[in-house]
Amino acid sequence: MAVILRGAEVVNAMKDKMTQEVEALKARGIQPQLAIVRVGARPDDLSYERGAMKRCESVGVKCTVFALPEGLGQAEFNEQVKAINDDKLIHGMLLFRPFPKQISEEVVKNIVAPAKDMDGMTPINVAKVFAGDADAIPPCTPEAVMEVLDHFKISVEGKRVVVIGRSMVVGKPLSMMLLKKHATLTICHTRTKDLEGVARGAEILIAAAGKAKMVTAAFVSPGATVIDVGINVDAAGNLCGDVDFEPVEKVAGYITPVPGGVGTVTSSLLAKHVIRAASQSV
Ligand code: NAD
Repeated sequence: MAVILRGAEVVNAMKDKMTQEVEALKARGIQPQLAIVRVGARPDDLSYERGAMKRCESVGVKCTVFALPEGLGQAEFNEQVKAINDDKLIHGMLLFRPFPKQISEEVVKNIVAPAKDMDGMTPINVAKVFAGDADAIPPCTPEAVMEVLDHFKISVEGKRVVVIGRSMVVGKPLSMMLLKKHATLTICHTRTKDLEGVARGAEILIAAAGKAKMVTAAFVSPGATVIDVGINVDAAGNLCGDVDFEPVEKVAGYITPVPGGVGTVTSSLLAKHVIRAASQSV
C-alpha cells in the first residue's frame, strides 16, 4: 500500500510562515489584498472562490470579489482589470477562466500587470517560468505540485519524471519547473504512443489530463510516486482524479488523493503569491 501524500499536511506547514509574513507586513502598514474577478456565477467558480477566500483570510490576506455581469463586454472587462492594476491597495488578482466567449483571453493576458498576475497567465510570467527566473509567478497548480513534492522530500533530481498533459496552465509550466529541479522529463499528451509503457518507465508520474481514472495500475511501476492533478467527476457523479486510486494505491510507493491532494494546496500558493506581491509592492 502506498503512503498517501495529504494536501492538508502541506497546507498546515505553509500556514504558520505565511501568517507571520502577513503580521510583519501589517506592522509596516501593508494589508495584503487579492482581487478575485469573476464574470457570471458558475458553480465551479463559486466553489473555488469560497475555498480561496477562506484559505487567504486564514493567513490574513484580504480578498475582494469583483462579480461582473455575464454579458459584460471586452472593453468594460479591460477597464476593470486596468482599475485593479492601478489600485495601490490591491497586490494581486485572480481572474476566473475560461472567460465568456465575448472576452478574449489573448487580449486580457496582455493587460494584467505582471506583478499582480497571481496565476501566471501573462506572457512575462510564462517566459520567466520557462527561463527558470527566480522572480517568476507561476500558475498556482503546478507550483502546488512542486510544493507537495518538496514537503514530502521527494526529490526529482535525475529521476525519470513523466507528466501526462501539456496545457499552459498545468502540464507545460510544471514541466519547466521540474526541469529546473533537474528532473529527466517526458511530457505526454493525446498523441503519445504507448502511453501506458511510457508512464510505467516513470519513477514519478504526474497526471494532468483531465480524464477521470485514466491512469490504471498498468501505468505505474511498483514503488513509483503518483501525483494526481486531475479534478473530474466520475460516471457515478463523484469527484475523482485522473488516477484510478484504489488499484494504483496498491502498486505505487506514494500517491496523492483526490480530493485532499494537490487541489487542497493550490489556494495556499495563491495566498503565498499575494503575500510576496505585497512585500515587493513598496
Ligand atoms: P486541459 O484539458 O487544458 O489539458 C489536458 C492535457 O492533457 C492536454 O495537453 C491533453 O493533450 C492531455 N490529455 C488529455 N487526455 C489525454 C489522454 N487520454 N492521454 C494523454 N494525454 C491526454 O486541462 P488542464 O486545464 O491542464 O487540467 C488538467 C486537469 O487538472 C483537469 O482535470 C483539471 O480539472 C485539473 N486541474 C486541477 C487544478 C488543481 O488545483 N488541482 C487546477 C487546474 C486544473
